[in-house]
Amino acid sequence: MPLPEPLRHRAGRRAGVRVGGHTIGTGAFTVIAGPCAVESEDQLLTTAMGVADAGAHVLRGGAFKPRTSPHSFQGMGRAGLDLLAAARAATGIPVVTELVDVRDVDRVCEVADMLQIGARSMQNVPLLREAARSGRPVLLKRNPGATVAELLSAADYLLAEGNEQVVLCERGIRTFEGSTRYTLDISAVPVIRERTHLPVIVDPSHAAGRAALVGTLAQAAVAAGADGIMVEVHVAPADALSDGPQSILLDDFPDFLAALSPFIAAAGRHHASPPHVLA
Ligand code: PEP
Ligand code: MN
Repeated sequence: MPLPEPLRHRAGRRAGVRVGGHTIGTGAFTVIAGPCAVESEDQLLTTAMGVADAGAHVLRGGAFKPRTSPHSFQGMGRAGLDLLAAARAATGIPVVTELVDVRDVDRVCEVADMLQIGARSMQNVPLLREAARSGRPVLLKRNPGATVAELLSAADYLLAEGNEQVVLCERGIRTFEGSTRYTLDISAVPVIRERTHLPVIVDPSHAAGRAALVGTLAQAAVAAGADGIMVEVHVAPADALSDGPQSILLDDFPDFLAALSPFIAAAGRHHASPPHVLA
């Protein structure tokens, strides 16, 4: 069956994507924060409480970690999902976590308020279809080797299943530049806003690869018109099992947000109260 004209071409009307009690994409600036990976009860609960207290709207954390090397930590799997459920209950803020395998969709949906499709999976069509059919909102990350047009086509697979709760994420692309882990394609933000009604957020952590740069890239994201950011935060980055070098120290997270706040105001946005305090 041919697709109808892509739903994304709805000029002029920005979509709001509802994640738990929070809406991404309509005025308020969204902060998604948490560890790269769920590592232990103590690590996750401490980080979750810390980021929620500081004002994060959504908790992130991977239970399934597809890594570049098979010898790296692959995540806690289903045990990690249980810890995410505990963190969600303890903080009251919604959770986004990555869906890697179609066979896990039901189990992940028991815990996740939003499904993350990782950069490596952006063009995994069966995974996109299953994620969309779950009815959960989907956070679709751009593959570092994909064009914006390819990202939007991947989003069309979600929309074509009747799920319009889609948020796009720029997380850095592969270039010849070696001073950062990837190159944050800041232009992608206004380009995506031009071409689609879907919200767009920026992940400065994976783009930078180093915590020292994350604040500046986050500020640039706000200025470029992003609807939010997703940042990695760890209670002890030096001990992290994945992506420690790019993770903001939990104790530094309130200052990170305070430094972002004038940029949010200058962009005509506001920092909404986290959903748990509205309940
Ligand atoms: C992540 O968010 O931890 C992650 C694995 O990111 P990406 O899919 O963008 O590499
Ligand atoms: Mn990571």
